[in-house]
Amino acid sequence: MPINLTILGSGSAVPVLHRGVTAQYLNFNERRILIDCGEGTQLQMRKFKVKFQRIQMIFISHLHGDHYFGIFGLLTSMSLWGRTQELAIYGPPELEEIIRHNFKLAQVYLSYQLNFYPVDVKEKTRIFEDNSIEVFAFPLKHRIKCHGFLFQEKEKEYRVNPEKIEKYKLSLTEILSAKRGEDVKRINVTLPFKDLVFPKEKLKSYAYCTDTKFYTKLPDWIKGADLLYHEATFTQEHLDRAKATGHSTAAQAAEIASQAQVGQLLLGHFSSRYKNIDPLLEEAKSIFPSVSCVKDGDVFIVN
Ligand SMILES: [Zn+2]
Repeated sequence: MPINLTILGSGSAVPVLHRGVTAQYLNFNERRILIDCGEGTQLQMRKFKVKFQRIQMIFISHLHGDHYFGIFGLLTSMSLWGRTQELAIYGPPELEEIIRHNFKLAQVYLSYQLNFYPVDVKEKTRIFEDNSIEVFAFPLKHRIKCHGFLFQEKEKEYRVNPEKIEKYKLSLTEILSAKRGEDVKRINVTLPFKDLVFPKEKLKSYAYCTDTKFYTKLPDWIKGADLLYHEATFTQEHLDRAKATGHSTAAQAAEIASQAQVGQLLLGHFSSRYKNIDPLLEEAKSIFPSVSCVKDGDVFIVN
């Protein structure tokens, strides 16, 4: 189960009873990740049974309050509950000072170590990797500096077919060559590696793009993602408002999904002016059919 995404907050600006502000929990190949942390995120985690002590990394897109005001409470609660595991925070460079200053004034001493990794990039840039996943950040077009993130499975070596090992009596050196995608050369004969290995599976990926205006560079950066979350704060009827506030319409989000040829589009960050979000869904569907409007507590899985 490589990608398991839980929507913790799907609204914008102000939390209301049925829609929290932005936060998502991503379990990607057992890496446990929080993306944005609007006010009330820790309560949403309790409500939707996300164990917050297991979170290893937090990614914050930008410094508008509806994307990070929940972090002070969450970090403090982790400490009150006796966390000892280190926690990594990737986000705007100013975030470290904001958090440390706040805790200093309140004389909060955390029970665990916080490691900050400033994110400030102009092009798609890898900001994290381990042996299983990698994370890229890229700029979005918003009123203040804002980043999107692409979470991607890491390129693996080929898997050698055991039947071929038996058939050709492959040595360890030859197996390692085939794993790297190199042909096995013997005296008088070459065994093409493609005949020895299983085809590689497509690398799974999740792209997170909020908050942003329509941005023509996005499709290249997130090409072919299995899952794309793109903000859709407004409908086309309020296009002027979207432009003025640095946001997208549902049609624009669908256009990005279509150009990027993603598997599935998730829309969120809805303006609270829409009591009924069906018009946003209909607007996007006419451009990109594989689309859902998310609700708090929704879970999306890519196997
Ligand atoms: Zn914003």
